[in-house]
Amino acid sequence: MCSRAVFRCFRWMEKMGDRITGAAGPFFVGLAIILMSVGVVAFFDVIQPSLSWPIASLPITSMVAVNMLAHYYYACTVRPGFVDDAPRQPGKGFLWARKRSGSSSGALTGVQWSSAERITKASITTCRKCGQRRPERAHHCRVCNRCVLKYDHHCPVRINQCVGLHNERHFVLFMVYLVVATCCFGVLGYESIWKVLSFSFAEEWSYRTPSIAFALVYVVSVVLCLAVGVMLLWHLWSVAGGETSVENHDHEVYKKMAKERGESFENSYDLGVRKNFEYFFNIGRNGYPLYTLILPLRIMPYTDGRAWARREGYDRHAGVKPGEELTDEDEDDE
Ligand SMILES: [Zn+2]
Ligand SMILES: [Zn+2]
Repeated sequence: MCSRAVFRCFRWMEKMGDRITGAAGPFFVGLAIILMSVGVVAFFDVIQPSLSWPIASLPITSMVAVNMLAHYYYACTVRPGFVDDAPRQPGKGFLWARKRSGSSSGALTGVQWSSAERITKASITTCRKCGQRRPERAHHCRVCNRCVLKYDHHCPVRINQCVGLHNERHFVLFMVYLVVATCCFGVLGYESIWKVLSFSFAEEWSYRTPSIAFALVYVVSVVLCLAVGVMLLWHLWSVAGGETSVENHDHEVYKKMAKERGESFENSYDLGVRKNFEYFFNIGRNGYPLYTLILPLRIMPYTDGRAWARREGYDRHAGVKPGEELTDEDEDDE
């Protein structure tokens, strides 16, 4: 109960922060790129040589840095997927991962049945703001002024665009690697920061990175590790429950409405924690190999956003009646 309140508080702060800083989006992206670049240089200049096994640990620390930067780049540049976009095809370049052998190529486009998966066609509604026909899980973004497939939220601070079907995986992986990287910086750079702070002249600061820059990046790392860590936990929690950020909020409302009627709300996209993660990262039997989680590769989502995996026996959520669903207007009022 208490953790829920903390999560909510951070979620609210994130939302407010996003709104206040909306106009300054490109500035924050520039700042993020500078900070991450200085952080990576400072790590490999100061901290890496001080590790117990500097050569042996180099592949691991390099992979963390490369994944962090690559997923940030993807989260910023891969379009979230708008409802009027033509369906996408997987790319052919070396940055694109290959699917598991035996699985169908490309994203699922329609109804599919098998013993393991049950993909049903999305219901279609009309957006009251832009008038476009859109599949379920799409929402209207006020900033982009378009409807986004599997809309999560618009994030001006970190990536200056919407988080949706095609970039949500990069967004979450970026946060994972950012938290790992900043945590490494904080823990492994502990001795180096003492060198800076103790002002002892016994050990001279003989690195290319200025000590003041190192101290600054160290402080920012510790703060980001904690703040982004909480946001990451929130997002992973939503993924585990088969919900986007918007849906997480909506479902809370539906649960209350159902409870008042003596019913219980069931999220039909929730296939259990394991399956929910498999679909989110598309690493299930019909998806991509597990190594796509640790290599900075691009993959296609399991669906084109017009069909969704659903729990056996459910064609829609239980406990919410047709016409009761919240609209984008209701969400804006929050
Ligand atoms: Zn719309
Ligand atoms: Zn947007």
